[in-house]
Amino acid sequence: ALSLRDLNKSFGGSVVLNGISLDVEQDEFIALVGPSGCGKSTLLRVLAGLDHADSGDIFVGGRDMSPVAAADRNIAMVFQSYALYPHLTAGQNIAVPLAMKRLSHSQRLPLVGSLLPGQREIRTGIARDVREMAALLKIDHLLDRKPGQMSGGQRQRVALARAMVRQPSIFLMDEPLSNLDANLRVHARGEIVELHRRAGVPTLYVTHDQAEALSMADRVAVMIGGNLLQLAPPDVIYNDPAHIEVARFVGQPR
Ligand code: ATP
Ligand code: MG
Repeated sequence: ALSLRDLNKSFGGSVVLNGISLDVEQDEFIALVGPSGCGKSTLLRVLAGLDHADSGDIFVGGRDMSPVAAADRNIAMVFQSYALYPHLTAGQNIAVPLAMKRLSHSQRLPLVGSLLPGQREIRTGIARDVREMAALLKIDHLLDRKPGQMSGGQRQRVALARAMVRQPSIFLMDEPLSNLDANLRVHARGEIVELHRRAGVPTLYVTHDQAEALSMADRVAVMIGGNLLQLAPPDVIYNDPAHIEVARFVGQPR
């Protein structure tokens, strides 16, 4: 399970995370919603170790994450922009976390592409995991293509495959579907929930789409101005908001 204890973070003089505490069960899918600028991405970045809180604690399975470097946290993150390596094929992109996992910390530093697996290795060695993941996400036929040769929906699947392939202990997603058209988006919702179920790990999913929060999440966390104002099942959030600010936020479709 994932536990956040009183996380605080300011940029300059402005408070972005104001004492965030949150417990996510092992098999739980939490949708994190809130107005633009309320601190959602910052919270995910702090969890992933890409940014640091000013104070507070993060525990994963009871283990304190504060001294653990981002690369060693085994937390998977998928961004809105997918952030694939443009010069690598889909297969190589998916293989990167597996290759990294095998290297020690000092070995990783000089790794600027030279140690990355070539296409041949993708088809052997590490390859089995890559192919399994590709089959699951139905991107087998795309493994030799580079991101520039794929559609947005295809890139999104490659990004999901890359995030899931190394069996992360936490799954973080920051509006992963917002660049897709409506049909693809609806289809991808089910796939993401399925990936979460298979992995059986706590998942935090940032979205601006209320339909996504309603249809995907076990519980919805509403963040406004750096405060976590309510954490409850979707029907409770939307039918019985605990706060006037939550009511205002969910009452305004966007
Ligand atoms: P959105 O829904 O638009 O993605 P968000 O909830 O993800 O918004 P954050 O990106 O977490 O919001 O930003 C929260 C606040 O922190 C914003 O006011 C933003 O301007 C500020 N902020 C974020 N990163 C930095 C930074 N590196 N330096 C200074 N301010 C920052
Ligand atoms: Mg954001």
